[in-house]
Amino acid sequence: MPQYALLIDYEYCSGCQSCEVACKEEHDFPVGVWGIRVWEDGPWKKDPESADDQGSDFNWNNVPVPTDLCDLCAERIGQGRDPFCVHHCLAECMKFGTVEEMAQEMAKKPKQVMFVPCN
Ligand code: SF4
Ligand code: SF4
Repeated sequence: MPQYALLIDYEYCSGCQSCEVACKEEHDFPVGVWGIRVWEDGPWKKDPESADDQGSDFNWNNVPVPTDLCDLCAERIGQGRDPFCVHHCLAECMKFGTVEEMAQEMAKKPKQVMFVPCN
């Protein structure tokens, strides 16, 4: 049985939270319980002493992080379908596959994170 993973290209994550909502609704999680959270870091200036004010002078990232409740949508992937979050990602910046496949994708560009569930 291969080990599976999510790959998230957070350079293109818009922070729309569709993955959060899709996961929560499809799994019927109660209020305050989540399968994935989107964390916003920024904006803050990378060099506070600099007078430059371009977008690239700031750190500002949205990074979706699956929680301990993420099982990679085991039932759904057992039917050969993508996890709900991947299916509903408006920016198409989430991928699902084996750890080896995702590692190969990860090597192709920076600003990506890979997630492997704990169970
Ligand atoms: S893979 Fe499934 S359980 Fe995990 S975060 Fe995405 S929608 Fe939620
Ligand atoms: S659905 Fe996609 S673009 Fe929207 S917050 Fe989640 S990962 Fe980012």
